[in-house]
Amino acid sequence: QVDRYLYHMRLSDDVLLDVMARFQAEMVKGLGRDTNPTATVKMLPSFVRSLPDGSEKGDFLAVDLGGSQFRAHQVKVFDDGKQSSQLESKFYPTPKEVIQGNGAELFDYVADCLLDFMETKNLKHKKLPLGFTFSFPCRQTKLEEGVLLAWTKHFKVRGVQDTDVVSTLRKALQKHKASFDIDIDVLALVNDTVGTMMTCGYDDQRCEVGLIIGRTGTNACYMEEMRHIDLVEGDEGRMCINTEWGAFGDDGALDDLRTEFDRELDLGSLNPGKQLFEKMISSLYLGELVRLILLKMTKEGLLFNGKVSTALLTKGKIEMQHVSAMEKYKEGLSNTKEILTELNLFPSEEDCIAVQHVCTIVSFRSANLCAATLAAILTRLRENKKLLRMRTTVGIDGGLYKTHPQYAKRLHKVVRRLVPTCDVRFLLSVSGSGKGAAMVTAVAYRLAAQRKQIDAALAPFLLSLETLREVKNKMRTELEYGLKRETQASATVKMLPTYVCGTPDGTEKGKFLALDLGGTNFRVLLVKIRSGRRRSVQMYNKIFAIPLEIMQGTGEELFDHIVQCIADFLEYMGIKGARLPLGFTFSFPCRQASIDKGTLVGWTKGFKATDCEGEDVVDMLREAIRRRNEFDLDIVAVVNDTVGTMMTCGYEDPNCEIGLIAGTGSNVCYMEDMKNIEIVEGNEGKMCINTEWGGFGDNGCIDNIRTQYDKEVDEGSLNPGKQRYEKMTSGMYLGEIVRQILIDLTKQGLLFRGQISESLRKRGIFETKFLSQIESDRLALLQVRRILQQLGLDSTCEDSIIVKEVCGAVSKRAAQLCGAGLAAIVEKKRENRGVEYLQITVGVDGTLYKLHPHFSRVLRETVKELAPQCDVTFMLSEDGSGKGAALITAVAKRLHNVGQK
Ligand code: ADP
Ligand code: MG
Repeated sequence: QVDRYLYHMRLSDDVLLDVMARFQAEMVKGLGRDTNPTATVKMLPSFVRSLPDGSEKGDFLAVDLGGSQFRAHQVKVFDDGKQSSQLESKFYPTPKEVIQGNGAELFDYVADCLLDFMETKNLKHKKLPLGFTFSFPCRQTKLEEGVLLAWTKHFKVRGVQDTDVVSTLRKALQKHKASFDIDIDVLALVNDTVGTMMTCGYDDQRCEVGLIIGRTGTNACYMEEMRHIDLVEGDEGRMCINTEWGAFGDDGALDDLRTEFDRELDLGSLNPGKQLFEKMISSLYLGELVRLILLKMTKEGLLFNGKVSTALLTKGKIEMQHVSAMEKYKEGLSNTKEILTELNLFPSEEDCIAVQHVCTIVSFRSANLCAATLAAILTRLRENKKLLRMRTTVGIDGGLYKTHPQYAKRLHKVVRRLVPTCDVRFLLSVSGSGKGAAMVTAVAYRLAAQRKQIDAALAPFLLSLETLREVKNKMRTELEYGLKRETQASATVKMLPTYVCGTPDGTEKGKFLALDLGGTNFRVLLVKIRSGRRRSVQMYNKIFAIPLEIMQGTGEELFDHIVQCIADFLEYMGIKGARLPLGFTFSFPCRQASIDKGTLVGWTKGFKATDCEGEDVVDMLREAIRRRNEFDLDIVAVVNDTVGTMMTCGYEDPNCEIGLIAGTGSNVCYMEDMKNIEIVEGNEGKMCINTEWGGFGDNGCIDNIRTQYDKEVDEGSLNPGKQRYEKMTSGMYLGEIVRQILIDLTKQGLLFRGQISESLRKRGIFETKFLSQIESDRLALLQVRRILQQLGLDSTCEDSIIVKEVCGAVSKRAAQLCGAGLAAIVEKKRENRGVEYLQITVGVDGTLYKLHPHFSRVLRETVKELAPQCDVTFMLSEDGSGKGAALITAVAKRLHNVGQK
């Protein structure tokens, strides 16, 4: 009979899944900027972004207002690696005149109690951070501020709604400060759900949901992705959202599930039409629901022989503890009988069975509904993480959950049935709301300290405009040194003449071989250039590996290997007999005396073959060909990759007179007026200068901006003390700089839980391509975490944010420094031309420039800022080192033939 009577209160799994879907929609609505104002589930940002990580420490105070009791706490947190803490609390009464009086009195009372607490605990004269647990819906804009939206539960204090409760508490404390010697710093405002999550999070790092099923209310919070929270700036990381789910259904979304009893209860409440979901769930209302049901059943003659007692007619006569007691099945019907008798109802055994059943249906419905909304949150968490299965922990507090004999079991069971894809651990919080506020405060305290340390580590990477201007000016000075006869021998920027005196004019044609040595890959190419109306360039190439032992073996071995690769290529292309002109792209500093003579000044990047420095690389190649004695080649030009790049772009755009490489290395060439090149005879026309600007700073002139990390990278490199500018700007080193910073931050305990893993110790694991991936705007933090995990760096979300920040600082500085250098070059060109405004094109090659998400933009912006009188177009070169070498060879060949004729 009861079952039939309360049919509407028994919810099938289908209905629960439907409630779950409705709640999911409500969450989305609450998170959206446009939909939030009309959403019933407010989804309030808590500004709690991090869970405890165990490194928190110190003494904290907390007050807890809005739960069933008003309390003050002192929490000592130890960073002893055992996640231990000590809690001492004191309860204070909340007299009705205080919680239904005016605001000033309430906060004075809170301050009085806190002062009393400090006196009893002997805490005066100490400066203590305080966390304020205030379990009412507040709109927060930061951690230590919250505007009360509305009182709930049994609170109704005048003049507080729509004001910031933290500043009111501060003012109340300030008044006491004058008369007593106390110094309390209110650092955090915390909802009890958040406090519960944080308390449990201290013991179990997986905890990311806080749930209250309390004597006075129900609510939940969880960690949401920042990118889904429209109301808070920023996309990185997560923030705890206080759902305030008690108001679910206030727009009628649950009307089909609400019974006549729910409606009657609502009409008789302090806040009719509000908190409708809470009224179906929380213990404040369950007893009353039972009373209303029993009353109606009795009136209809279904119970107690139809005799209604005065007690049964009295609001509030049946409370939660009665319901709990009646549902203690183990104790049979004795509790039920006793309680009903107390209500003057003279129950028969059948009455007792029926009433017990009513209680079960009402409290089971509460657990069911609560499970459905919790399941919605868990599903959202899992989807946010893009996981098919998820392990997680829910921190729970609250009287109903803790004291009702069946509630917890039922809730767990239904949740697991509704979300079989989540392995949920339910963790009971011990005095969550108070300790949690202290934990939030402790975390805020830790984060503030960590932030300071991280900022300090990255500060040297932030270059002011003034500093960049200085770099530009110094670069300009070094460029001049390199060009002048007296200073060029000792110049760090070597300004090597290339004997390339003109850009292509479009009449070039023929078949050429090209070699590209000095980049990531060694390649041999066949380039076919057509002129005239069918002007085009066709290329065939093959990549060959250069094993490390050859890169760092003897020169003879290196060149024998190169010739071996050429032989393979000729064979492969079927052109072994042809004696083709060859351009040799050799991307290392060479002192040239003509276009086909180049003496290696010194190896850079990863090369270190012996007996090459000081030798003519063309001769070495010719000798290797002779040693092999298999084919002959006409080596026409030795070409730097920057020059190849400039020539390739120059083939398309005659205004291109600068070539830039931002790849493994960093270098620039440009067309200089012959009259400025003192070490080459002649004053007419122009010649391309390979600046070899990577050596900028080798005389210490930019040591003021080099960081300890740059020095460490330098010391660990193949050529310590050399190529200092290159080591701050190029692909080969950026990842290594990042690695050095990460090691330092880890040593300081700011990353990876202070553990330097084996992989972090490995030189070179952090390749520059990971910077590009990590810094990509399209990448969610979780993907960053996955990249780091692949590198063997087990990182938390916060670690990932920091790593991303480090990468950003390093690559931004690289782009800015490179931009400052380029600004010096374009300014020089402008002055050479003697024009007010210069229009010029820079041909660019290099994977760092091409693939890094921000490098090219920052570089361009810096040039614009530092050389405002130059309008610089950047043109991407396609395969500059191959095509360019062929073009230079073609130009040289043409000039040579003209000469012969
Ligand atoms: P090279 O300069 O050796 O001729 P590249 O221009 O292709 O050749 O540059 C290769 C270098 O670019 C690598 O050594 C690496 O440092 C860097 N790099 C590789 N992939 C990326 C990427 N995705 N983003 C940024 N830099 C990269
Ligand atoms: Mg290259």
